[in-house]
Amino acid sequence: MKVHNVEMVISAVRPDQYPEDGLPEFALAGRSNVGKSSFINRMIGRKALARISSKPGKTQTLNFYKIEEQLFFVDVPGYGYAKVSKTEREAWGKMIERYITGREELKAVVQIVDLRHPPTADDCMMYDFLKHYNIPCIVIATKADKIPKGKWDKHKKVVKETLNMDKNDPLVVFSSEKGLGFEEAWHLIEKKM
Ligand code: GDP
Repeated sequence: MKVHNVEMVISAVRPDQYPEDGLPEFALAGRSNVGKSSFINRMIGRKALARISSKPGKTQTLNFYKIEEQLFFVDVPGYGYAKVSKTEREAWGKMIERYITGREELKAVVQIVDLRHPPTADDCMMYDFLKHYNIPCIVIATKADKIPKGKWDKHKKVVKETLNMDKNDPLVVFSSEKGLGFEEAWHLIEKKM
């Protein structure tokens, strides 16, 4: 999709604040600093619409971005940031659970991981949680520009095995830096709209 029009509609914490347009939604999840904002910005062709995080773990809201009047990207606050208190972590968990489990408009969760390293325990917990509720996932393995192309397959295999990925969930090798994987990611999202 060629994106011309993006509107940040609302930062929501409660279901009564979610948009009521009925448009399909794609939630973006990932560990703090994994490259989630960069992914969003690359997908919507902006330099800095989604805030590039200087303080990881700070946004505790679901940010709804309306794209081309056709769909929403829902930016989920990053997980796995060590300095977040137990209370904040629990509030985060409740907010995500309420959204994930009760949202008919949610078509898939786009989970961002780092292609360079095996998914962390937090990544696995997030993926397991989504699978527990039967949420379709698109896994994006980003920062691919940081490893040689010849090693991608090996790293893909590690990501798939560590997450114990469902065969129906696609994995896309991505680079926000280079724009790699852009077409494939959009294609998979549009297929689920
Ligand atoms: P977030 O906390 O998950 O939103 O992460 P950011 O998008 O803010 O990215 C964290 C850091 O990784 C920043 O310094 C980005 O420039 C860098 N980064 C993100 N994506 C890529 C990528 O595809 N390639 C490279 N080389 N660096 C990236």
